[in-house]
Amino acid sequence: MTEITCLDPKCKHSHRSFEGFTILSLGFIKEGSPNYLQHIYNCTNMTITISELIEKNFQKEILDGDNKFKCAKCQKKQKCDKVVGLYELPKILIIHLKRFKSMYFYIKGEFQKDRTKIKIEESIDLKAFIQQKDNKSTKYNLYAIVNHEGDLEFGHYTA
Ligand SMILES: [Zn+2]
Repeated sequence: MTEITCLDPKCKHSHRSFEGFTILSLGFIKEGSPNYLQHIYNCTNMTITISELIEKNFQKEILDGDNKFKCAKCQKKQKCDKVVGLYELPKILIIHLKRFKSMYFYIKGEFQKDRTKIKIEESIDLKAFIQQKDNKSTKYNLYAIVNHEGDLEFGHYTA
């Protein structure tokens, strides 16, 4: 679920939209971020947990400047809050790590693999990212991992 709230103090209109998914895809760092290139090339010694990565992906974002959002109520492009959260949890959660990044902004057609090390906890709790409070269970236990070694052109999968 995505909730965008107009930050005009006279409006404060909230717009919610829902999108179903079967796989929770998690990005590492937003393309075009100030430290994007540094992150891509120097991240081999970085380790974060899957819970930290989930938290990063659900952080509140401010839409400002070129990213201002046209508010449905005041009909103007406004500075807005954007919150992405989960509404209804699946019985089985599949997480996909978006390791391949387009370098389009820098080198056309090139992709890089983000090699940030991810520590996967044996259990995670998604309670903090739930918008609807009547989900019975928000905890998941690790069942299986599929790992990719190599690059975009070649590689090997193990499970
Ligand atoms: Zn508004």
